[in-house]
Amino acid sequence: MIIIMLGAPASGKGSVAEILTKELNIPAVSSGDIFRKHISEETEIGKKLKEYVTKGELVPDSIVLEMLEARLNEEDAKNGLILDGFVRTIPQAEALDKMLEARNQKIDLVVNLETSDEEILERVVNRRICKNCKAVYNTVLHPSAVKGKCDKCGGELYQRDDDTLERAKNRLEVYYKETAPLQEYYEKTGALYTTTLSVKINRMKDEVAHDVIEYLKTK
Ligand SMILES: [Zn+2]
Repeated sequence: MIIIMLGAPASGKGSVAEILTKELNIPAVSSGDIFRKHISEETEIGKKLKEYVTKGELVPDSIVLEMLEARLNEEDAKNGLILDGFVRTIPQAEALDKMLEARNQKIDLVVNLETSDEEILERVVNRRICKNCKAVYNTVLHPSAVKGKCDKCGGELYQRDDDTLERAKNRLEVYYKETAPLQEYYEKTGALYTTTLSVKINRMKDEVAHDVIEYLKTK
């Protein structure tokens, strides 16, 4: 089974994917992780990636697909994969469908997470990360017991340079322009499942993941 996590940056895709991966026993891959892995292991794909990254150019879709196909061929992915952050544009979705079709596979489910812009921006600007163990906190929604200190390891909490209001707004804008049209694309293929993850209405990741699994049983 191949599942795509769709939703704005900081909509909670990774958190839901983490639960689904355990419940469904299929691995989750994020595009960032796989990029870093290829670069650090200096694979053939990694060498090509590095060139683009060094030049500050966008990685072409063909390389993204090549990485994905290599990942699908790994032993632990024989029952499928959960893709987080891979498909960002319609041309990528079309190319992915083609590649899967040739392998006799398809996108079975697209989990589309909806959260208000207001809540997403709040999540981003209040996000704090432990310098030591990388645990993630939120100064409003999920604060550490002692301000500025990690509950788990006592490490110092910091804010990423990227987590400013202005940058978060930019990322949202790119999402609406390039990625949100995928909702309609996957609606047409019948794979779309839209749900809400929101702290404000107390609908948290466990409940969302539970509903996704129940929905899968009806498919
Ligand atoms: Zn820590």
